[in-house]
Amino acid sequence: MADGEDDARPPSGRWPLRLERAQPSARRLVSPGTDSVIRHEPVPATPRVAFPVRRAAEPVRPAPGDGAPLRQHMVDRLRQAGCRDEAVLAVMARVPRHLFVDAALQGQAYEDTSLPIGLGQTISKPSVVARMIELLRERPGGPALRRVLEIGSGCGYQAAVLAGLAERVISIERLRGLHERALARLAPMALANLQLVYGDGRLGHAPAAPFDAIIAAAGGHELPPAWLEQLARGGRLVAPVHDAALKSQVLMVVDRLADGSIVQRIHEPVRFVPLESGISEFGHS
Ligand code: SAH
Repeated sequence: MADGEDDARPPSGRWPLRLERAQPSARRLVSPGTDSVIRHEPVPATPRVAFPVRRAAEPVRPAPGDGAPLRQHMVDRLRQAGCRDEAVLAVMARVPRHLFVDAALQGQAYEDTSLPIGLGQTISKPSVVARMIELLRERPGGPALRRVLEIGSGCGYQAAVLAGLAERVISIERLRGLHERALARLAPMALANLQLVYGDGRLGHAPAAPFDAIIAAAGGHELPPAWLEQLARGGRLVAPVHDAALKSQVLMVVDRLADGSIVQRIHEPVRFVPLESGISEFGHS
């Protein structure tokens, strides 16, 4: 973790901040040409979620019926592992994760594991989905989420969970094949407050901005400037970002406070697929 690390270089006051320039010590900077105050705060210790690993001998069980008992079991284990947000857990107990993966993988859908969803991408582990959404709901403006932007729809699972918690969710995917599959998988669920967009999520989605919450399922070397521009006051952004010092991705939490100032914190190391530029017709049927 970045606790206690001391990077001697001064942070630039401009967005995007390169992570390696972020100072863990408390500092206030006034950005030239903006009214934002950028504060770098000490990194709070975050508990690592110790999720019980499935024993090798435990058989892989297919999801019977609609999978409700397995989902409930998954939620019980998430709670035991430290997830405290009952609203998030209640929605995860409802969303049928097995319907977002191929039939051959449905037996593993309620284990705490990431799974391939095609075109080289993966659905995040349930504990990571719960953790990130829990962090979003701890935003300065309070847990109620009006507008949420998700970057990286993938199979659409996390978008469906977000739709159970927010008034409106916009989810962007850059691979046409995955976007189309997510549309098809979500159609029977008729989530009227969820809009899937085929596009480059690095640009955010200006027509629906500002967002109370922005969540990225893919990580780059820095946060795209559009995400911060589209973050509402009282809003929070949660995204994986490459940390040059640690040579790994870490979970970055950025808050825009009521006065417009920005606070960013680095949390635990994570592993997400890369945030790519532009769109791709890959997998288009
Ligand atoms: N939340 C998803 C996780 C998908 S993995 C789920 O529940 O399945 C991350 C996704 O981010 C991949 O599908 C990848 O194609 C997508 N991605 C990567 N860079 C992107 C970008 N610039 N814009 C939109 N999507 C992007």
